Amino acid sequence: MEFISTRSQELRTTAAGAILRGLAEDGGLYVPASLPRFSLEEIKTLKDMSYPALAAAVLERFLPGFTAEELNEYTRKAYASFDTPAVVPLRPLRDGVWSLELHHGPTCAFKDLALQILPYLLAASGKKCADGHTIAILVATSGDTGKAALCGFADVPGTKIAVFYPHGGVSDIQRAQMVTQEGDNVLVLAVEGNFDDAQTGVKKIFSDKALEKELDAAGVALSSANSINWGRLAPQIAYYYGAYTQLLNAGKIALGDTVDFCVPTGNFGDILAGYFAKKSGLPVDKLICASNSNNVLTDFLRTGVYDRNRPFLKTMSPSMDILVSSNLERLLYLVTEDTDQVAEWMAALRETGRYDIGEKWLEVLRQEGFEAYFADEEETAREIRAMWTQQGYLADPHTAVALSAAEQYRQESRETRPLIALSTASPFKFAASMLSSLGESVPESGFDAQEALSALSGQRVPAPLAELRQKPERFPGVTTPADMREDVRRWLA
Ligand SMILES: *Cc1c(COP(=O)(O)O)cnc(C)c1O
Repeated sequence: MEFISTRSQELRTTAAGAILRGLAEDGGLYVPASLPRFSLEEIKTLKDMSYPALAAAVLERFLPGFTAEELNEYTRKAYASFDTPAVVPLRPLRDGVWSLELHHGPTCAFKDLALQILPYLLAASGKKCADGHTIAILVATSGDTGKAALCGFADVPGTKIAVFYPHGGVSDIQRAQMVTQEGDNVLVLAVEGNFDDAQTGVKKIFSDKALEKELDAAGVALSSANSINWGRLAPQIAYYYGAYTQLLNAGKIALGDTVDFCVPTGNFGDILAGYFAKKSGLPVDKLICASNSNNVLTDFLRTGVYDRNRPFLKTMSPSMDILVSSNLERLLYLVTEDTDQVAEWMAALRETGRYDIGEKWLEVLRQEGFEAYFADEEETAREIRAMWTQQGYLADPHTAVALSAAEQYRQESRETRPLIALSTASPFKFAASMLSSLGESVPESGFDAQEALSALSGQRVPAPLAELRQKPERFPGVTTPADMREDVRRWLA
């Protein structure tokens, strides 16, 4: 299995090459040239495995060139840092709806599932491609990726990591998580602007040939830990299989029964991993894309028109405050298999902020199982309240967006198929929004809000969040999109 760029069949590389480079040279994203396939018999064998073993078995098929032995070692080490042996526990909610909790890692957000293992994959890819360069990771984050990447890469030999987050665009706790990060190889900077400004700044640095040459001479190669990196996406495919096998083991479904997934979506990485799971044989029917008030994707999946020309709204689910969902490009390639067409749409997006895939391709997306709903701030708060008062379940604002979308879908379609909503963050990461949604008074500091949420719910603040209060701020700096290139150059040269 080789990897090609979504914008050109010619740019072929291996899994290790795709992981090392992150973005293809033409600005496209790497996708497998052909997809592996799991038979139902093979899925059956997964259900008796521990999560690390299951993840290694799935990854082996999506990362050719890595051995089973290597992958088992990486998944064992990566998922040992989670606070439950199930790693991705599945909790029953209302009838036929489950919450797949992906926030039991060291930074309390689902990004840990990929970013705890990515450093191993990158270090191994560096060896496989053997040029001895220091790998410098650049990350633009809407909040959760940054901390999860810092946590994965801090003090990993042969790597450095710089994280850019929107100034004022992340929660108190998210900011504290990043600016207190330890490690000699890390840099954290706030950027004036929103997430898209930060992401555009990073993408520009990646496509800067002069800088690449200068860094190469200094023995440094840039790479990305954003969800555009195949090494980020591949580990996410595994938990869709993990969710399915948990339902099998609980006797809730029989082998071969289909299930629906509902995914709180920002950059389209998580839900795309679900599509890869489906395309590789997992019995999935609908993939429900859940958005907050920044509902570009809802409009796109309903009309075929992607239009980022609209106000950028700050919501209480900041990790989904995104107007340009990078990974959507991969979906467009997977359904059209036409790199020229994808390149054309992406050029239109760049130049006009808009593209239209037309009725034919929209219909294909529907046939592939994509549905789309969104929850505005009021609906999200209502869902948080309903979950707490009716189910005794604390759903963070991102998870609540998904649960609201799932409910809208079920009411509209009258479907009763088992539905798994992905729960992507600990509610304690967004304690202030939780309290205000629950109608409680909100203390000024994010840390006091955590305590108040803990007192209200009788649940403990997760240790990695409780500890932040004592940590010194190491990175108070703020930069501008225009200065990012020079910040990086100075830091690496
Ligand atoms: C990143 C993130 C999302 C969005 O995931 P994408 O892969 O970007 O679509 C949703 N919820 C939380 C808590 C996140 O951190």
